Amino acid sequence: MTQPLVDPFQRAITYLRVSVTDRCDFRCVYCMAENMTFLPKKELLTLEELDRMCSTFVRLGVQKLRITGGEPLVRRDIMTFFRSMSRHLDSGALKELTLTTNGSQLERFATDLYAAGVRRVNVSLDTLDEEKFARVTRWGRLPQVMRGLDAAQAAGLKVKLNAVALKGFNEDEVETLTRFCGERGMDLTWIEVMPMGDLGNEDRVGQYWSMKDLRARLAESYTLTDLPESTGGPARYVRLEETGQKIGFITPLSHNFCESCNRVRMTCTGELYMCLGQEDMLDLRPALRNHPGNDAPLEQEIRRAIGLKPEGHDFDYSRQRADGQVSRHMSHTGG
Ligand code: SAM
Ligand code: SF4
Repeated sequence: MTQPLVDPFQRAITYLRVSVTDRCDFRCVYCMAENMTFLPKKELLTLEELDRMCSTFVRLGVQKLRITGGEPLVRRDIMTFFRSMSRHLDSGALKELTLTTNGSQLERFATDLYAAGVRRVNVSLDTLDEEKFARVTRWGRLPQVMRGLDAAQAAGLKVKLNAVALKGFNEDEVETLTRFCGERGMDLTWIEVMPMGDLGNEDRVGQYWSMKDLRARLAESYTLTDLPESTGGPARYVRLEETGQKIGFITPLSHNFCESCNRVRMTCTGELYMCLGQEDMLDLRPALRNHPGNDAPLEQEIRRAIGLKPEGHDFDYSRQRADGQVSRHMSHTGG
């Protein structure tokens, strides 16, 4: 029997988030600069390497795999990877294969995703206003995403919307988005914006808007009941008594749930980040590339990395930059 992955604080690591590309067909103002330099292709793990990497994690006890990016669905031939991962669903080793997407390619891929065993998708959408959507994503077009949502639901995928809360931008859409999700049977989660990377300020669409204030805003229209459930991540949930909807709030750098943290993140080049709030990582690519056909060194490196997982990021704010920013972009570690 392979020993499962357990970190020094006795947390079982069962959830891997994998970025499969740093590229994207949008340029969301809080995530990317308009002119991005992307990684040369050879730096990226190939689809075969991604498969080997993820399969090794699954063998070591990872039960949930979330594919992200960049925009995962713009990676060439990504469906080959999804289809290949479905063998781990079939074997029962993997309990869930899912993705976070901007929705632009769902019209094309929803049916294939369902066929590969994907049952739920998170779609990022901050506004239902076409003009505002174009402003916040710079390159995105709302109707395309709407068609993606339709296709996803028609294919049988359960959709959760993730909206970044931006003061002065979508403050006035709390009710509209709630109603939209209610009508379409989609869950909704709000995310607090993180100051990521050095994006410059010229494109600031909105500013930091705390979950506390957003919650207060929601409480003006609905009766909120706190739900006790935790997914091992930084989300908290409430139920709207009037509609029965479940609404989530994510404070990315909160440390409410560090003690039950079950996840690690891998970049598209094979760097493993043990904690979103810290810069510490271990590059797994050498162990993978230098030992084709032998996964033992990779397994060893993964175990070494998990052994370095910190107790929580609140212990180590000193390692962030002086202005409190985490210098890598969300598209790098994959949100
Ligand atoms: N392209 C896909 C998408 O947009 O869903 C997947 C990758 S994206 C980096 C993952 C999530 O990170 C999205 O929900 C996005 O809104 C969020 N995100 C990006 N930059 C952020 C930031 N600075 N603060 C908070 N959330 C951010
Ligand atoms: Fe692309 Fe997602 Fe980042 Fe927007 S948030 S630029 S869609 S990776």
